[in-house]
Amino acid sequence: MAKLIDGKAISAQIREELSDKIKTMDKKPGLAVVIVGEDQASKVYVRNKHKACEEVGIYSKVFELPEETTQEQLLALIDELNADSAIHGILVQLPLPRHISADAVIERIRPDKDVDAFHAVNVGHIVLGDPLFLPCTPAGCMELLSRSGIDVAGKECVVVGRSNIVGKPMAMLLLHANATVTICHSRTADLAGVTRRADILVSAVGKAGFITADMVKDGAVVIDVGMNRNSEGKLCGDVAFDEVAEKASYITPVPGGVGPMTITMLLRNTITAAENFAAANK
Ligand code: NDP
Repeated sequence: MAKLIDGKAISAQIREELSDKIKTMDKKPGLAVVIVGEDQASKVYVRNKHKACEEVGIYSKVFELPEETTQEQLLALIDELNADSAIHGILVQLPLPRHISADAVIERIRPDKDVDAFHAVNVGHIVLGDPLFLPCTPAGCMELLSRSGIDVAGKECVVVGRSNIVGKPMAMLLLHANATVTICHSRTADLAGVTRRADILVSAVGKAGFITADMVKDGAVVIDVGMNRNSEGKLCGDVAFDEVAEKASYITPVPGGVGPMTITMLLRNTITAAENFAAANK
């Protein structure tokens, strides 16, 4: 039976470390979170981010804009936040309404305030192995692995999913940690054949029960990034937890695995942004 990787406990430990660090800083780190429209899931995420900021001692300002906000209005707010010295990190909650280009908005955020690490400049730094900020969800997965004593160097790692937010940067972080990495997607031939090779399997697909026991090698480490609702409306990951836990050596639950780590890494990036700002303005 697999050992559970407790993302809630690991996250709480890191948040304590971050809170201690903030107490030593001359200026409080500041995060602006912008949300446009009425997406209820996004509203919950934003509320959680705000609460997490307050708990560790980060100044957080939430901008709730109406659905009919134009792209120009949103870009004007980004310009203001880019220039605001009390704000070190800017996060625009995705998805945005259809009439606003997420790419245009992300590209408008100053790279040194882009705590989600979505800006092309930051993506470039990540690929080069010289990141300003680590992408939150993949960085959270890496912390779960390292704080569970799992070394990825030399391991066969398979990432299922190739999104810009999770799959691709996840593969890049594993690669920089000296893993041998394969990325799978909807066009992968013989997916189960590939996933069965994995010492470490990361699933970021978005389909409940997608990773079944026959896709997992005995003793593999399984990291479940998925956040889905099952037929009863309950939050669950991509992994068929009960059957996969019988085979894996370590597994993350959903909820309580990767989820809490994503926000924690956002807090860490905001502190990094504030430190960099202080160093540049000495
Ligand atoms: P996307 O929808 O952007 O990407 C999903 C990926 O899964 C795509 O690359 C897609 O392939 C691949 N895929 C879909 N079907 C299959 C299939 N049958 N076989 C193999 N690959 C397949 O999702 P995200 O990356 O944004 O998110 C993935 C999941 O992670 C979601 O459940 C999301 O809610 C969750 N998530 C969780 C976070 C957390 O904090 N825990 C943070 C961010 C996301 P293709 O490219 O070919 O279409």
